Amino acid sequence: MNDCIFCKIINNEIPSKTIHEDELVKVIMSIDPVTNGHLLILPKKHYTNILDINEIIVTHSLKLTKDKLYPLLKEKLNCDGLTISENNFLGQEIKHFHIHLIPRYKDDNIDFNIIKENINDLDEVFNNLTK
Ligand SMILES: [Zn+2]
Repeated sequence: MNDCIFCKIINNEIPSKTIHEDELVKVIMSIDPVTNGHLLILPKKHYTNILDINEIIVTHSLKLTKDKLYPLLKEKLNCDGLTISENNFLGQEIKHFHIHLIPRYKDDNIDFNIIKENINDLDEVFNNLTK
């Protein structure tokens, strides 16, 4: 039995505020928005995260964002920018791949709470990544 809440939304077993739907994805409003117009792009097929996603979904989602969703958010909500994010494991509440589209506004005061003491020397991190 599939208990995935996003699969249930895709199958219309759970209602959602759907902004766009095509053969590959469903785009819904987040029920816990960070800003006004926070959208989630859900692949219709269940993928867990970036490690198993089909790249066609990612390409399709970014093209859809560029051609339709971002222009819609700009036109209707007058946002000043757009943050695109996708969480894997940490920060990923629902284990069904999804892309967040977070409209940004000049006064939204979004703070990613970066703790500078946790940031190591740039050369040290670079050396670790490239050795
Ligand atoms: Zn699912």
